[in-house]
Amino acid sequence: MKKKRKIKRKFKIVLVILITILIIFSINKNKENHNTNIEKVNDYKYILVNKKNKLRSDFKPDNLIEVKECSLGNFYLEEETANAYEKMCLDSINEGLNISITSAYRSYNEQKELYNTYLKLYGESYVDKYVAVAGHSEHQTGLAIDLESLECDIFRNSKEYLWIKENAHNYGFIIRYQKGKEKITGYGSEEWHIRYVGNKAAKYIYENNITYEEYYDLFIK
Ligand SMILES: [Zn+2]
Repeated sequence: MKKKRKIKRKFKIVLVILITILIIFSINKNKENHNTNIEKVNDYKYILVNKKNKLRSDFKPDNLIEVKECSLGNFYLEEETANAYEKMCLDSINEGLNISITSAYRSYNEQKELYNTYLKLYGESYVDKYVAVAGHSEHQTGLAIDLESLECDIFRNSKEYLWIKENAHNYGFIIRYQKGKEKITGYGSEEWHIRYVGNKAAKYIYENNITYEEYYDLFIK
């Protein structure tokens, strides 16, 4: 009997140690997963998400709203971004243009699926250049929009793109991945991907022809 009790005690001690190890391990894992820079910016629209800065898998902006204007699907954006987009698109309609959205907010899991689909279709070098790994996509912030022209299939050849290129900064948007800046942004040029950073930052970035990474280093970090 005594021996049995001893074994039971030993078993309990081992169990407690194992549970403690598991708890410490999961806390550390959470910390690892927590390397987003949301805490580092005093204004959400300044968050930097790129190949080096990721978002937690469970991160979702709490103020997503559905885009009503210049959108043919069910697209959601962070509230300030949605309002700025609608203002910009209504002005573009007055200029006789026809802009729409192909993608806006994407959850971590949607990004993961998208990445895997493109990886299967086009291979590693393509996704490395154009598709973010889940957690590293600006689309998860609700601050990024992929645009299309309803007049011309290739966005960079459209008059909608020419107008966006010269006017988006007046509404707080930047063309995030520019040609010639691949080494800084980590991505090939994507004329259709715009990112909301607010009027002040967008104007500075536009006038000085810099990337958001450079602006972030200069003023936000
Ligand atoms: Zn995009």
